[in-house]
Amino acid sequence: MILITGGAGYIGSHCAVEFLKNDYEILIFDNFSKGHREIIENLKLKYNIVFVEGDLRNKADIDFVFKNYKIDAVIHFAAFSEVSNSVLKPDIYYENNVLGTLNLLNSMVENNVLSIIFSSSAAIYGEAKHIPINEQHSLKPINPYGKTKYIVEEMLEDYDRAYGLKSIKLRYFNVIGADYEENIGEWHDVETHLVPNILKSVLKKDFIFKIFGDDYKTDDGTCVRDYVDVRDLVYAHFLAYKYLKDYKKSDIFNLGSNKGYSVKEIYDTVCEILNCKIPYEVVKRRNGDPQILLADSNKARNVLNWSTKKTLTESIQSAYEWEKILKNY
Ligand code: UDP
Repeated sequence: MILITGGAGYIGSHCAVEFLKNDYEILIFDNFSKGHREIIENLKLKYNIVFVEGDLRNKADIDFVFKNYKIDAVIHFAAFSEVSNSVLKPDIYYENNVLGTLNLLNSMVENNVLSIIFSSSAAIYGEAKHIPINEQHSLKPINPYGKTKYIVEEMLEDYDRAYGLKSIKLRYFNVIGADYEENIGEWHDVETHLVPNILKSVLKKDFIFKIFGDDYKTDDGTCVRDYVDVRDLVYAHFLAYKYLKDYKKSDIFNLGSNKGYSVKEIYDTVCEILNCKIPYEVVKRRNGDPQILLADSNKARNVLNWSTKKTLTESIQSAYEWEKILKNY
């Protein structure tokens, strides 16, 4: 059985579906601090999953899982992930993302579960020194969120050396899109991400999309990011799981599309797909935002045999379908 922490959240729920579709037994562990009960109820309608409500900050909660279920590997998503919020409240980021993971790793080692796939982030690179960013790029996170991911990656290296805990660190670039046919998608109580915010400004009358800064040193002045579809992204977890089982070796992979789009280009693409002019305001830069993040994810393509299949248009369309579902929740 595979333990998915944070499986009621955005990427975690998509990952659960990926494994369930491939007939794996899944246990989801979540405290619903960011994830949603409705997602679990919805998955239960179609799939046979075990769900345990618990908080990684309480070690007893996660010990319970390892004592009561036969876990063969862990895919660890549970974390806070809003860059700007992490600048305002670093304490809760270190507590949840670092201390929570420490409890998880200790419980794994105590129970002799020695395989983990970790949801890391391109935020650990900080300001890009060269583009595209490969896995050898220096690690200088510029916000507490990125620092928590960096610290956990270091912890994982140490736990491998000391206890033989093997880990695959997957460094995500910007994840978008939704498996709306499974009734899952991006659902944050306070939405901070680009694509859902543009779409919300179409679907919600009182919401105006804001561009955070148009004075960056990029072609149109807005930040550049590498957007990868969540359905492609979770497939990489499936491949990483098999790699870990076959080779029993720790490794690190970037997961991105190898293409960069500015905030304005994403906005223009959404307007084009929806065939409407969406009102927006330009406001000042958001804290903690690096100017450009663009992946070189050829290692995942070559070693894991991963490829991205969804186009930017397909991802945005799927996110739009999901936003319409979400509006009725
Ligand atoms: N962004 C924006 N308006 C929004 C949300 C995001 O201009 O309402 C910008 C943000 O400043 C960044 C890019 O879009 O340059 C991607 O931000 P997002 O929060 O989606 O992902 P992040 O890069 O922070 O992981």
